Amino acid sequence: MVNVEPPEVRVAELRGGRLWGLDVDRGGRLLGDVFKGRVVNVVPGMDAAFVNIGLEHNALLHEGDIVRAGDQASVAKGSGGRGWIALRSGEEVVVQVARPPVGSKGARVTMRLSLPGRYVVLSESSDTVGVSRRLESEDERVRLRRLAERLRPLDHGLVVRTEAEGASEVLLGADVRTLVGLLEGIRAAARTSQAPCRLHRDLGLLGRLVRDRLGEDVSRVVVDDAETLDALRFQVRTSAPHLEERLELYAGALPLFKARGVEREVERAGARAVPLPSGGTLVIDEAEALTAIDVNTGRFTGRSRLAETVLTTNLEAVEEASRQMRLRDVGGVVAIDFIDMDRTRDRVRVLDALEAALAQDRAKTRIVALSPSGLVEITRRREGPSLRATLNRPCPYCSGRGMVKTPQTVALETRRRIREAASNIPARPSSETAGGRERMQVVMHPESACALLEDEGAHLRALESQCGLMLHLTVDFGLHLEAARLSLGSVGEDWSFDAAASRVVAGERLSLPAATPLYPAEEPAYAVLHGLLVHMEGPGLAIDAARASTTKPLLIEITQVGRWFATALVVQG
Ligand SMILES: [Zn+2]
Repeated sequence: MVNVEPPEVRVAELRGGRLWGLDVDRGGRLLGDVFKGRVVNVVPGMDAAFVNIGLEHNALLHEGDIVRAGDQASVAKGSGGRGWIALRSGEEVVVQVARPPVGSKGARVTMRLSLPGRYVVLSESSDTVGVSRRLESEDERVRLRRLAERLRPLDHGLVVRTEAEGASEVLLGADVRTLVGLLEGIRAAARTSQAPCRLHRDLGLLGRLVRDRLGEDVSRVVVDDAETLDALRFQVRTSAPHLEERLELYAGALPLFKARGVEREVERAGARAVPLPSGGTLVIDEAEALTAIDVNTGRFTGRSRLAETVLTTNLEAVEEASRQMRLRDVGGVVAIDFIDMDRTRDRVRVLDALEAALAQDRAKTRIVALSPSGLVEITRRREGPSLRATLNRPCPYCSGRGMVKTPQTVALETRRRIREAASNIPARPSSETAGGRERMQVVMHPESACALLEDEGAHLRALESQCGLMLHLTVDFGLHLEAARLSLGSVGEDWSFDAAASRVVAGERLSLPAATPLYPAEEPAYAVLHGLLVHMEGPGLAIDAARASTTKPLLIEITQVGRWFATALVVQG
């Protein structure tokens, strides 16, 4: 299933109706696309030309990326260039996007076309052969270089990709022929079409996936975008026409992944806890080079069946862990901590199942060690960034710690900060303060504020008298849990808005909409009204614990208004 949501393309591989593999590509709209464009102006000072390829901004063509007819050999020898002198405004050129446009910056294009295949990359403006540096075996490099030299079309260059490792001459030859055909198709289209227009769309990851897997084990490809499907059809028609009928368009009203129940499984590939069928859970912690997978049991059904339950859970964990490793595309070391098994035959069964599951993985995996306590170490080699790295960035709130301070920690720190701030206030005549006391405003998240108010505000009152301060408290669900803003009242400032009594009035009736945030997500709970914590009670209060909010609209009556919080009774729920 292919979901196109520019600039993102998601490819979900399903086996037996379940999500088996997931690939997400945000890399590059337009990257690798070939256009017929028209030179708008030549800028000799910049050694560049601007080309209209039909996008919002003209694309930049550097001198070094200009190739004149019959120039290939000299370009390949490094003596190329000077081509721009011969380029004229209004001239039509065939260019390929080397760098997609970013923001208001136009694309960068090149006249040196190159097309990636499954095993090789064919380039027009070169006549040399190269082998990917990532191919390690020297014998294999020599074999592939010899093959490539034999297969290289005249006046073209070939680079052998890592994927070619072990591939036969027949496969490589077919790949080269497909690319030459594609290049000829692009050149033919260029002769007959009107600039500016797109001659070839590079499907990026999607194109590679379809090219590599459609012939082997994929029975059907469902695409939710007509334009993408057309481009795929064109690609398949040139390389394997008999497979074209396997492509189909999804035109349902519901989003494709949602309609097929895959969206939820995709979400799980980003979650820390993944449930197992018999009630157990996998807890997955991904770090840069190490992924720890912890297997937890669900509830046991009875003592006599303990060993059976452990075995079942561990076997389910094998399947789910191998799936999550694929979906998340984790790399480096993976440590799976299975539940302890007493029986040797159970341990062997789990290990066998793991080996079988890993054998299905397209990435290279190896089981390194199994400790007596049930800890299995696996190494997994992947190509690109993990799903986690593609979709996330380090958390700016906790700086990647993955933890936030508890409300108690924040409250204690805030008290220390208040004391420190109070000691730095220069003395002022009592006429400028509230009866000789300075006013200080504290703004924080309700959770931390509740901790600050522990013992019904006893700590806060003690702090006021120790520091000679008058403290005002304002809470806001929108703040960071660790945030606490302190500010001093200045002379002549109207502080009445802070006085709790002016925000809500005892006896006042208010209606709260459904889904009003609460803290904590259980009774007794606080809501926030005009920056004031309001302690809610009454039989009509229904709390949605998962969302930490009220479940329905409520009519409440303010019963008491204190210095830092108020109480309210639910009159009608
Ligand atoms: Zn965080």
